[in-house]
Amino acid sequence: MTDLLSRLGLTSSNSGAWAGGALPDAGHGTIASRNPANGDILGEIQLADVAQYEQVVATAVRVQKAWQLYPAPKRGEVIRQMADALRAKRDDLGALVSLEVGKIRGEGVGEVQEAIDIADFCVGLSRQLYGLSMQSERANHRMYEQWHPLGSIAVITAFNFPCAVWAWNAMVAAICGDAVVWKPSLKAPLVAIATHRICEEVLAKNGFSGLFGLVIGADKDVGETMIRDHRLPLVSATGSVRMGRYVGTVVAERLGRTLLELGGNNAIIVDKDADLDLALRGILFGAVGTAGQRCTTTRRLFLHRDISARFTERLVKLYEQVRIGDPLQDGVLMGPLIDEDAVTQFETAVLEATREGGTVLTGGKRIAGPGHFVQPTLISADPKMAIVKHETFAPILYVMEFFDLDEAIRMQNDVPQGLSSSIFTTSFISAETFLSARGSDCGIANVNIGTSGAEIGGAFGGEKETGGGRESGSDSWKAYMRRQTCTLNYGKDLPLAQNLRFDL
Ligand code: NAD
Repeated sequence: MTDLLSRLGLTSSNSGAWAGGALPDAGHGTIASRNPANGDILGEIQLADVAQYEQVVATAVRVQKAWQLYPAPKRGEVIRQMADALRAKRDDLGALVSLEVGKIRGEGVGEVQEAIDIADFCVGLSRQLYGLSMQSERANHRMYEQWHPLGSIAVITAFNFPCAVWAWNAMVAAICGDAVVWKPSLKAPLVAIATHRICEEVLAKNGFSGLFGLVIGADKDVGETMIRDHRLPLVSATGSVRMGRYVGTVVAERLGRTLLELGGNNAIIVDKDADLDLALRGILFGAVGTAGQRCTTTRRLFLHRDISARFTERLVKLYEQVRIGDPLQDGVLMGPLIDEDAVTQFETAVLEATREGGTVLTGGKRIAGPGHFVQPTLISADPKMAIVKHETFAPILYVMEFFDLDEAIRMQNDVPQGLSSSIFTTSFISAETFLSARGSDCGIANVNIGTSGAEIGGAFGGEKETGGGRESGSDSWKAYMRRQTCTLNYGKDLPLAQNLRFDL
């Protein structure tokens, strides 16, 4: 482990403030990063204070002034080098993701691959920040719109995607000409430092050291200062609905912009005509993968009543075969939850579900021993139960029955969150109905694949309490730029729009 950490430039005590390099210890206290599989300390991090935060933002703002004038395709070349630098460290960084947040190795490496993919995507994007041109109603006038950088932006990330979610934001923002100040979760600080170092080295080589800043600090001082900071016109925040509601309100108060990526309560509908083998595999990955700690984790399952009993039996059998343990060990499919709090929330949710009339079909218990392990859990439930409408960040799947597709869609939409959804069906009509305006109300709607495991090429995000933000691919880049509508008069007259006359 020590070798791995040192290959990533980490030591036993690491700076939590980076502005074109590590800032010296501010004496503001330290936190320990612990391996959730066994409680071992991976390293310590010196917490950033508000003075260091100021230094990080001032550096980002200064460097951004030059960066925004550097042509976008040249910015693309710097991001291409970042993709290569991440590629070179992919397996090490992926292993660190596993060590720090408990994902199995494939998922840890997959997360870094996602960061590489978005960087690759951004190289092409750097030549495609297109604006429209419009037909002017006035003679000898040209009208068009163009996109300018926003400036420096804040990125706040959740623990469960400690590398990829920052990259979705930072790579796109950098292509757009912005600087990025990152405040990661205190539950995954080492991945943030290692990722930052890799990218900072590339920036420094290209003369833009400090374009990406990193502050690992407490919400109550550094976080609060960040969301109130007028120098940061956009705050992109990923995390719980509770956090998003608060951050969104504070930023709106100063009329800043937010891009919110919040909790989900994702469902899979399995219709009676579905390929059931396919559905089983999709559900298992969606509900058990990442130990149920993805925003897109499958939390609710709606089974057509004709197939429900036999399908549930098969699912229970599959659940009981899932190998749980050290996420870096081959064959293990489920690692630990992030911390003791998460285990308590899991236990509370199981208790609440049974109190409301649900029945545990399998699982439901924490696993004794070191680490924060729980059993993957299936609970037969009723969609009206309050706990079913709540996102518990753990591997609990509520199983419910439906009679026809309209009922299934109604139940699937009847929660406050709106992130990801899917249907397993071989019927073209059912699939199209699910994808139509009277179908799923989520930001992501899939057919014959599960709710999790999105590709970077699409816009990622959800509706309702999930926050409405879109990150990553498609035209999500527009959130990181300001639009300017331009009209040029190349004639000798000054006609007004709407034929208005204003002559003496
Ligand atoms: P969390 O809300 O506890 O924390 C998220 C981040 O917000 C952390 O960095 C935290 O320090 C920061 N934060 C909290 N209060 C703040 C404040 N006052 N000022 C500034 N920053 C503040 O979430 P978590 O437990 O780390 O992650 C799990 C949650 O994230 C789940 O709800 C999950 O669904 C959600 N999530 C959503 C997406 C998505 O794209 N929709 C992706 C990943 C995770």
